[in-house]
Amino acid sequence: MTFHSLHIMPAIQEALEQEGYQHPTPIQAQAIPPALQGNDVLGCAQTGTGKTAAFSIPILQNLALQQPATTTKRGIKALVVTPTRELAIQIDESLAAYGRNLPLRHTVIFGGVSQLAQTQALQKGVDILVATPGRLLDLMQQGFISLQQVQMLVLDEADRMLDMGFIHDVKKILAKVPAKKQTLFFSATMPPEIAALASSLLQNPVRVEVTPVSSTAETIGQQLYHVNRENKKLLLAHLLKDETIKTALVFTRTKHGADKVVKDLLRSGFTAEAIHGNKSQNARQRALSNFKNGTTRVLVATDIAARGIDVDQLSHVINFELPNVPETYVHRIGRTGRAGASGVAISFCDQEEREFLRDIQKLTGISIPVVAENPYPVGVNPTQSFQMPPQRQSEYRGGNRGGDRWGQRPGRSAGNRNHSRRFSAN
Ligand code: AMP
Repeated sequence: MTFHSLHIMPAIQEALEQEGYQHPTPIQAQAIPPALQGNDVLGCAQTGTGKTAAFSIPILQNLALQQPATTTKRGIKALVVTPTRELAIQIDESLAAYGRNLPLRHTVIFGGVSQLAQTQALQKGVDILVATPGRLLDLMQQGFISLQQVQMLVLDEADRMLDMGFIHDVKKILAKVPAKKQTLFFSATMPPEIAALASSLLQNPVRVEVTPVSSTAETIGQQLYHVNRENKKLLLAHLLKDETIKTALVFTRTKHGADKVVKDLLRSGFTAEAIHGNKSQNARQRALSNFKNGTTRVLVATDIAARGIDVDQLSHVINFELPNVPETYVHRIGRTGRAGASGVAISFCDQEEREFLRDIQKLTGISIPVVAENPYPVGVNPTQSFQMPPQRQSEYRGGNRGGDRWGQRPGRSAGNRNHSRRFSAN
């Protein structure tokens, strides 16, 4: 399957080549052809499947084919509504990348920052607007935005808009969009309220579906460490000594927890930054770009802040704390192993998180493999573990005295593996 066979115009095909995309992902192969023909699409796909391109490419192509290059005053012809600022920015960046050879203008608006730059961009005229619901509604009510010319509408991550309490704003926005339009509706899950919204909005939609939310991509290697809560920071520092971990997105359940992990990592000599709701939008953006350009190796995030973080080639996701909502596990680890690339998802589970682990394994239908070579197995006196580096611990446990590198770490001998297993029984 090639992009050419999906009838994507040469200007966009060239841009995709520049992005290094060789083949369409399954969601792209399914959604792009009907969307190019003007059909409504109902897409059930999670982040990481390539869904952004699945809706961005048809928008760009459909508008490019009708857009005279010299038009001066423009109205918004395509509107993309998405739940978070990070997602909004990433969609806008995708439009810039895929549309780099087209004379179309796009801009992005989201809350939490001054509206001035956004209203100035809008006043110049845009063809495609990417927006989060709150700021969009706000600027509509102030008279900066008219949706009367919208021909294409995308609702992205509709289930998250519901989760985040945006559904009323979304409905108010939809009321201002012309009835005659093409709608592309994407949601990872279809709770009843979202299914009802979809059926009220879509006309004879083409349904496309990839990897339901309960399943995890096969390209992601999952690993589990049973570890006492107080040893988690030591285990994390130990794992990060492995230089094949180029980038790691580490998840905590709370903002405070994220800050604490960063503090410990900095103390251990690793580059790390936190991204969560207490940080300003600028600080979050800065942390994200430092992570993307490799200045920071470890980004520590809470689930809300991490929604939509899109980092190419993210090699590792580490669940420092397991999420209490099992679907969140699937979303978290879906940030690695994207678009067919391989990735590793490592989870730490302490005594109190066993219940969360059971829920996750029930949802995914997978028993996450427990790593036998665990330098901090449950049951070892935490005070001793605190004081002893992993190498010394393996001596203490009678394991081999090999080096500390991946592949020849302490605890590889069969005897020691059994020992670890005994401590880290499921
Ligand atoms: P998304 O699900 O839209 O968040 O996309 C996930 C990641 O896959 C992004 O980093 C995209 O840049 C990348 N991607 C999307 N489509 C392709 C493709 N056809 N080939 C390679 N990478 C892709």
